[in-house]
Amino acid sequence: MKISVLTLFPEAFAWLKDYSMIGRAIEKGALDLDIVQIRDFADNKHKKVDDYSFGGGPGMVMAPQPLFDAITSLPDRPKVYYLSPQGRVLDQEKLFSMKEEKNIILLNGHYEGIDQRVIDELVDEEISIGDYVLSGGEMASLVIIDGISRLLDGVLSSEESYMDESHMGGFLEFPQYTRPADFRGLKVPEVLLSGHHEKIEDYRLYQRMKKTLLKRPDIFEKISLNEKEEKVYRQIKNDLEKGGQSN
Ligand code: SAM
Repeated sequence: MKISVLTLFPEAFAWLKDYSMIGRAIEKGALDLDIVQIRDFADNKHKKVDDYSFGGGPGMVMAPQPLFDAITSLPDRPKVYYLSPQGRVLDQEKLFSMKEEKNIILLNGHYEGIDQRVIDELVDEEISIGDYVLSGGEMASLVIIDGISRLLDGVLSSEESYMDESHMGGFLEFPQYTRPADFRGLKVPEVLLSGHHEKIEDYRLYQRMKKTLLKRPDIFEKISLNEKEEKVYRQIKNDLEKGGQSN
């Protein structure tokens, strides 16, 4: 997959080839990261990319010319995602649909944002990483690049599979523990040391559902429970009412 990042701050992406799953995705050839300096496309002597806002108001706006030319210079007319606090809020489902694209552009705004005509004419979708305002799209692009990298074929090993992770169309992930089994008196739940796969599965399902109920009850509105999950759900409710836990 090719991701072209249009930015005024290419240095924000300089370290990525050495970073975790993004580095691995690049090394394996699953990800081709193309960092494009928008300023290079400014057709004025001083390479100015912003101007005041018509109608007044504080702050500068990124001008249309460098953005039009930067976007249309890229071959194959990739889908253009503009990072914006006004966009659809990113989630795992969106990352999955993005990673299916062969070629995308992540357009990073700065200052007060970009001229509306760029959005109207060239942007396919606006994406936000949350209901707060950043000073530029770069941090949001980094989030997206990382989220996509680990979903690309061959990047995670089978042991590192993302299928059981939180937000994979089901409950949040179960709690994880590693050695030692007893850390300063803090013990790993006995069942995880038992080697009894069925019991471990039951324990994990209970924990996933309980975590989800306590942290993100809204997720239950999107999931239909099977018979076993219904039973576990009733048990968790019961246990919580009693103030304890049976699993
Ligand atoms: N004036 C704009 C508004 O109120 O909608 C905010 C501009 S913001 C200071 C500058 C740039 O940061 C935006 O053009 C966008 O690219 C990026 N940005 C800010 N918050 C973001 C968010 N929550 N998600 C994605 N990008 C964001």
